[in-house]
Amino acid sequence: MKTITILSGKGGVGKSSFAASLSIVLAEKYKIVAADCDVDAPNLGLLLGIKKFKNLEKISTNYKAFVNEKIIKCKNKDKLSDICAFQAITLEEGIPAINKFLCEGCGACKLLCPEGIELRKVKNAKILETSTKYGFYLVSGQLEIGESGSGKIVEVIKEKAKRIGEKTKADFIVIDSSAGIGCPVIASVRESDFVVGITEPTPSGLNDLRRALSVVEHFKIPSGLIVNKFDMNKTFTEKIERFAKEKNISILGKIPYDVRFVEALVNLTPLILYANEYQNLFNKIKDNILSIL
Ligand code: SF4
Repeated sequence: MKTITILSGKGGVGKSSFAASLSIVLAEKYKIVAADCDVDAPNLGLLLGIKKFKNLEKISTNYKAFVNEKIIKCKNKDKLSDICAFQAITLEEGIPAINKFLCEGCGACKLLCPEGIELRKVKNAKILETSTKYGFYLVSGQLEIGESGSGKIVEVIKEKAKRIGEKTKADFIVIDSSAGIGCPVIASVRESDFVVGITEPTPSGLNDLRRALSVVEHFKIPSGLIVNKFDMNKTFTEKIERFAKEKNISILGKIPYDVRFVEALVNLTPLILYANEYQNLFNKIKDNILSIL
């Protein structure tokens, strides 16, 4: 079972739309499991036509600190607000108070006041496992509002996708990663067999792609690029192609600007099913990926 991860340096370049169509093209010939690891903004389920997420499982991958009555006896309690790197602790009339939205659960305060501070597990995400009408399973995760620990949530999603993949004898797991270079991206990319970077021909698109690819390079994972809306700025597309050549990264495909991309999104239909002529392009992209894998 191979894992293909789709990422982008910045949001809004068509990553999840691309992931939905690539999943469908792959599923025509192979058994796949799709994993939406964009836990801050999970949309892959919507793009695959799942309007309501039912039977969500609440999970806990993070801790928060709580003050108890023994804090009075802690000799270090005045130092607590200085030790917290996230400015989550304030002193109110000499008694520490913790802002739960700022607390990252690092545990530093508990080291100072082991008796007066408790670290409790919090339900920081919801996970969904479901079948799709396209014949494959989807695992999706949502970070709860104001919570942290997104990297660990991605690990749980990947583990569940792997378990389903083993059970269904899947050939591929397709991961829709978050945009950027943060914890959920690092957790998504880690242990992948191939990474598809999607960008658009703009200075910010290329700049952010460079940063995202540095994560991929760190893990020494082979990768390829998709240029979306390539015809909106052909000069800049050429710049991206030169960048790819310098980096020895293949351009897997170039997708033109097409208003039907947006229409497909509005209709919760993957692009290749909304506009059939994209079948050929996505089949070619799939073949390019498989030839490198
Ligand atoms: S657990 Fe860490 S982040 Fe939370 S209040 Fe304590 S020191 Fe601050």
